[in-house]
Amino acid sequence: MNRRLMLIPAYVLASALLAYGVWLHAYAGELSRLADRGQADLVLAGDRLTGELRRYRELAVLLADHPAILARAEGEGDQDAVEALFLRSADKTGAMDISLVAPGGRVLAASTGVAAYRAPYVGRAFQGALGFSHAVDAGQGRRAFAYAAPVHAEGRIPAAVVVRIGTERVEATWRGDPLTVFFTDDENVVFVASREELVLRRRTAGGGSPPGYPEGALRDFIPHETRVVAGYEIWNLQGGPYLPAEAIHLARPFPVVELVAEALIDTAPAWRQATLLSFVAGAVALGLGAVVFALVERRRALALKLAAEAEANAKLEARVEERTRALSEANQQLRQTQAELVQAGKLSALGQMSAGISHELNQPLMAIRSYAENAGLFLQREEPARAADNLARISELARRMGRIIKNLRAFARQESEAIGNVDLVGVVDAALELTEAKLRGAGVALHWQPPAQSVMVRGGEVRLQQVAVNLLSNAADALQGQPDGVISIGIVRDGGRIRLSVADNGPGIVEPERIFDPFYSTKEVGHSEGMGLGLSISYGIVHSFGGAIAGRNRAEGGAEFTVELDAAEVEVAA
Ligand code: ADP
Repeated sequence: MNRRLMLIPAYVLASALLAYGVWLHAYAGELSRLADRGQADLVLAGDRLTGELRRYRELAVLLADHPAILARAEGEGDQDAVEALFLRSADKTGAMDISLVAPGGRVLAASTGVAAYRAPYVGRAFQGALGFSHAVDAGQGRRAFAYAAPVHAEGRIPAAVVVRIGTERVEATWRGDPLTVFFTDDENVVFVASREELVLRRRTAGGGSPPGYPEGALRDFIPHETRVVAGYEIWNLQGGPYLPAEAIHLARPFPVVELVAEALIDTAPAWRQATLLSFVAGAVALGLGAVVFALVERRRALALKLAAEAEANAKLEARVEERTRALSEANQQLRQTQAELVQAGKLSALGQMSAGISHELNQPLMAIRSYAENAGLFLQREEPARAADNLARISELARRMGRIIKNLRAFARQESEAIGNVDLVGVVDAALELTEAKLRGAGVALHWQPPAQSVMVRGGEVRLQQVAVNLLSNAADALQGQPDGVISIGIVRDGGRIRLSVADNGPGIVEPERIFDPFYSTKEVGHSEGMGLGLSISYGIVHSFGGAIAGRNRAEGGAEFTVELDAAEVEVAA
């Protein structure tokens, strides 16, 4: 739990680091993009300046060839006409002033009242070259570029045409330009700039004014700190509202105008872009983390739930197993008890039948005795045929006795036979043989038409006999003392089931719903019958074969018991 929760701040920290990384990368990329564009803009600004100045250079060169100016240079000609020409030219081109200067600086003609020129660039014109310079006017403090073109006359240079251009003409074209650009000279003074704040600021502090600048004309440079980011020089400026607070500093020399073009490119857009990107990256990382966290939490909760369920299941299974074991033990015990009951029931039935059986065995025994005695007499009288006849009867009676005894033995045996295919007709016949004496004693008539073929069912032979004996002897009990007692036995097939019915026309069942309860008996206790076990044992036996036993009162009077059993799959012909 704690470890998982500690992951959250760690992940947030990692996301912040990622966002910072993105910021650095994006910032460097944006700086490089801005610097590239700045370089191009710088070149453009420089070209514009040189292009502007080139017009005045050509003006100076053209005027130097003018015949009136040439005449004036030679000391002849009309000064007023030349000055009028200069004035016109200056008005048309926007030059600050135009003048014709003799060697030594004396002014031969001028558009405005200029006294003298002794500047070095004018000297260059007298050497045959084109002079170029920039300077601050000592009188009015105006900044101006100046060209000096030599006036050639028969191999000499009697004078030079000087054209001066005020910087405001160039600077006017930069008004409103978002680019901060300025041009510095050899003395590190900003001579032209697109921002008024920068003009005439000097980067090198102290010392007197450099040549060309009047005393007090220069200001100190705008304070700034410099650092390098991603290979670019970044300036932190405190230059007021019209200069960027932080800017990339670019520089590029323009030898044509003897100046270095410099630009300050605002880094704010780069900063904004990088910040935006880093925010997005951070937000995406945090969002992703949140989603992953939520998923992991859900899986964990699910796993916990599953584990709890599995535990509960295991407990339940253990309990079910325990119960099953207890149940099967109880079942085992029940089976044991039932087997004991079956045996007890059998012995009880045997007890009930013993009187009849002894009679059954006594009768043929007596007959055998008299047949044997008579056979002896017949032999003495030499009537072998009749003696043989008697012997045959004896043999028949002995076989009958043997059959009875065999049935008794089988019935009394503690049975553990498996369920198999049993002939139901044979079962009924054996049961009838066992209960014959009792039925006869009760004076009961029997309706029993055995089917022509054996009817095979699933069950145990001796146990089924026990059931049949039970039903028959119950019916005989019910008919005891009734003069017209009839027991009807029937076997019918109903699909895959075989139904054996034993019906009587006795008084009927008193409480049909109780007859299968153990120890339920309506018969007198102490009477030869009446343990109340017969039907409950029969019930257990039939159900153990997958069959069913039922007892009901018939509409026409008397009781009917039916035993339903599965038919054996293979029927063997009789
Ligand atoms: P027992 O024969 O020892 O009484 P049984 O379980 O065989 O025990 O029978 C239970 C009771 O069912 C009998 O006491 C009797 O009341 C009733 N009964 C069984 N068969 C019949 C029948 N054929 N007619 C009337 N009642 C019957």
